[in-house]
Amino acid sequence: MSAQPLTAARGAETYDVVVVGAGFAGMYMLHRLRGQGFSVRVYEQGDGVGGTWYWNRYPGARCDVESMQYSYSFSDELQQEWDWSERYAPQPEILRYANHVADRFNLRPDIQFSTRVERAVFDEDANIWSVTTSDGKTVAANFVVLATGCLSNARKPDIKGLDTFKGPVYHTGNWPHHPVDFTGQRVGIIGTGSSGIQSVPVIAAQAKHLTVFQRKPQFSIPARNRPLTAEERKNFRDNYPEIRRFAREESRNGIYAEMPDRGALDDGDNARRARYEARWQYGGLTFMSVYNNLALDKTANDTAGDFVREKINETVKDPATAKLLRPASYPIGTKRICIDTDYFETFNRPNVTLVDIKANPIEEITPHAVKSGGKDHEIDALVLATGFDAMTGSVAKIDIVGRNGRTLNQKWAEGPKTYLGLMTTGFPNLFVITGPGSPSVLSNMIVSIEQHVDWISDVVGYMRDRRLDTIEAEQGAEDKWVAHVNEVAHTTLYPQADSWYMGANIPGKPRIFMPYIGGVGPYRQICNDVAAKGYEGFVMTRAERERKAAVS
Ligand SMILES: Cc1cc2nc3c(=O)[nH]c(=O)nc-3n(C[C@H](O)[C@H](O)[C@H](O)COP(=O)(O)OP(=O)(O)OC[C@H]3O[C@@H](n4cnc5c(N)ncnc54)[C@H](O)[C@@H]3O)c2cc1C
Repeated sequence: MSAQPLTAARGAETYDVVVVGAGFAGMYMLHRLRGQGFSVRVYEQGDGVGGTWYWNRYPGARCDVESMQYSYSFSDELQQEWDWSERYAPQPEILRYANHVADRFNLRPDIQFSTRVERAVFDEDANIWSVTTSDGKTVAANFVVLATGCLSNARKPDIKGLDTFKGPVYHTGNWPHHPVDFTGQRVGIIGTGSSGIQSVPVIAAQAKHLTVFQRKPQFSIPARNRPLTAEERKNFRDNYPEIRRFAREESRNGIYAEMPDRGALDDGDNARRARYEARWQYGGLTFMSVYNNLALDKTANDTAGDFVREKINETVKDPATAKLLRPASYPIGTKRICIDTDYFETFNRPNVTLVDIKANPIEEITPHAVKSGGKDHEIDALVLATGFDAMTGSVAKIDIVGRNGRTLNQKWAEGPKTYLGLMTTGFPNLFVITGPGSPSVLSNMIVSIEQHVDWISDVVGYMRDRRLDTIEAEQGAEDKWVAHVNEVAHTTLYPQADSWYMGANIPGKPRIFMPYIGGVGPYRQICNDVAAKGYEGFVMTRAERERKAAVS
C-alpha cells in the first residue's frame, strides 16, 4: 500500500522517499518506511542487495563482529530462524543472509538495481528533491535518505604505472563475481588494513609466492573463528531480548560483552598479563574492553600494545620481519583493530615476503613488477587492499545541491558537519544513515543502522501526522554538535593515529575525527531525548501548504 505523497507531484514520477543504496541500511529503511505506508524507491548501483557484502568478495572476507550479533534485530522471527554457521560468518554467507532478508520481506520490487544516483537537487519553492539517476531519469521525492555506506567507495591508489601492469589487478572492495584462482602465481598485495589482514593468509596458502607491501603495521588479535554449536546458537536466541537491549542501550560499541570494571594500571603486572592472555585466547574485538581506560590513558594503552607486540615477536620467527610487523607509532585501538586467522603466522611461510614501503616507497608499477627501493618485485597478479574513502566518499560522489544552490561538497570542503550525524543544515529533508558525527564505524554497525532507520522513520511519520513539509537542522544545533563530537574525540587517544577515522588515508582530505566516540548507548539516549522534545534543534515547516493557502 502506498500513501499519498506528502507533497503534490510536479509532473515527475514522485515518491515520498528515495533511498540511495541497498546494503543493510537501505534494505531496512525500505522495510520500515513501506510498513508505514510511504511510497519508497531505492536505487542501488550494484545488481544485488547486501552492499559491503556484495562488493567485498575477496578471499578470507568475513565479519569481525560475531555473527549472532552482526545481524538484524528488528524481526524476532528472522533472528530465531536464521542459522549462522561460524562465529564470524564468511562473506558468501552474509550475502546469502542479505538476499534472504530481501526475499523474506519482499524488498526487491521497490529496489532499482544497476542504477547510480548521480544528482539530487532541492527545489526550495516546492520543498521537493529532484533525483537524477544514471539511466537518465529524474524523479521527485519529499525525502532523500543516503544509505550509501561508510566503507563503500573503494580507494584506488595513485601509483605511477599502475595502468601499465600486464597481469590482473583486483581491489578487495570491488572483487570480481567469478572465482579468482592464484594457484601457481606470484601475487603482490598492497595494503595491510583489515582486508589485507584477512586475505593474506588465504592467498598465501594458494599462491606460488606472495609479496606483501606494507606501509604501516597493524595491531591484530586472533579471531579464534570456529563453527558455532547448536547450544551456543540456542543460548543467544533464548537471551536475545537482553543481548540486543544491552547492545543498543548500554554498550559503547553496540556489542554485548562483559563491561570492564577497572583500569589497566589498577592491576599488577601478573594479573594484567593474565587478563590480556585470557582475552587473547578468547579472541576477537573485545580484547580492547579488558580495561576501561585503554582508549584514554597512554600508559594504560601501552600495556595492551606491549602485550600484542610481544605476541608478534613470539609468533614471527624472523626477527627483522617481526620488527616490521610490530606497530609502534600509534596507540593500540586508535585505528580500527583487526582480527585475523593466522596473519602473523603466515609470515613464517617460505613463500611469503614482507616489503616495507614506508622505508622504501613504491616508485612505480611496471608491466611485470612492483618497484620499491630500487628493486623489482616480480608478480603475475596484483591485489589492492587499499581501503576506502571512508564515511564521506560515497556521499561526495553524488552532486547534492541544497538551499541557495550550495552543494554538499562545498559545505563539507573542510570536513563533514552534521547535527547528530543524521542531517546537515542547508539540506532539508536529506538524511544520512550512520553519517559522520554518529557512532557509525566505531560500532557494531547493524545496531547503529537500525537505530538511525528507526529514528528517521519515526520523524517522517511524525511529520506526516502533523502535515509538516520540511525538517532541517538548525545551524546553532549543528555547530554545538560538531564542537561536542570534536571535544569528546580529543579526550581520547584516537586522534593520535593517522587513521581512516581521521580521513588520513586520503591525500588532501581534511583531518577531522569523523565518528562520534561518545558511545552507542549514550548517543541513542541523546537522539531519543531530541525526539521527545519535539525534535529539538531541528526546524520543521509547513511552508508549501501555507503558501498554497495564501494563494487560494
Ligand atoms: C570487509 C568488510 C567487513 C566489515 N565487517 C564489519 C563487521 O564485522 N561489523 C561491522 O559492524 N561492520 C563491518 N563492516 C562495515 C560495513 O560496511 C557495515 O557493517 C554495513 O554492512 C554497512 O551497511 P550500509 O548499508 O550502511 O552500507 P553498504 O553496505 O556499504 O551499502 C551501501 C550501498 O550503497 C550503494 N551506493 C553508494 N552510492 C550509491 C549511489 N550514488 N547510487 C546508488 N547506489 C549507491 C553501494 O553500491 C552499496 O551497495 C565491514 C566492512 C567491510 C568493507
